[in-house]
Amino acid sequence: MPDIQIGGLVSFTTIDYPGKLSAVLFLVGCPLRCAYCSNPHLLDVGPGEYDPEKVYNWLQSRVGKLEAVVFSGGEALMQGDASISFIKRVRDLGFAIGLHTNGFYPKMLERAAEYVDWIGLDYKATRSKYEQLVGNSIAYDNMIQSLEFWKTTGKDFEVRITCDPRFVDKNDLIAIVDDLSARSIHTVAIQKYIPHFEDDAHKTTADQRNQFFDDTELRHKISAMVPNTVWRE
Ligand code: SF4
Repeated sequence: MPDIQIGGLVSFTTIDYPGKLSAVLFLVGCPLRCAYCSNPHLLDVGPGEYDPEKVYNWLQSRVGKLEAVVFSGGEALMQGDASISFIKRVRDLGFAIGLHTNGFYPKMLERAAEYVDWIGLDYKATRSKYEQLVGNSIAYDNMIQSLEFWKTTGKDFEVRITCDPRFVDKNDLIAIVDDLSARSIHTVAIQKYIPHFEDDAHKTTADQRNQFFDDTELRHKISAMVPNTVWRE
């Protein structure tokens, strides 16, 4: 089995796994090409910069100090068996395991579920705009399949909507939350789009990015649909 390829590491965070002190590992490779990707250096599968055994040994030294390890990317399930076996090894150390995923690999998610305690799943746009945003025609259906599967596990999760005004408008946001409500999803995070690169900064205005968060009526409407909505500005 090939080694896991790790392209990044955050050694301490309080925001990537709800309520737990965590480290985040960024695995290389992603099948999508989102217009707003903040990790373009992780998209191609190739050698990661981090020696997996050194990372594992470092995680061993964190037992008792950190509560969780979050696997992110790229898409953390794209490395298949290598991802799952490394996730299992880390969980065997006693950490809770979080997974940030775009949901592209529902079958891999089914295989990984035994070793994963919580996921943050991206619901990036309405079905009609999904391909335009992510550059892949089956990504929406796969994401929905992952979402429906994860519900059956009974484990915690959060569905995340990033409001890039180029791909999500207020009506889209309502339509997405309405869909989630119909699917009995109770934890939704609505995230502000923040351009990560200078090249992207001029493509949207601050007002366009803020419009969802400044609209009290919209916020009330959405909170009425899914009471546990978190707004991340
Ligand atoms: S799913 Fe995430 S890592 Fe992959 S292209 Fe989209 S934003 Fe980038």
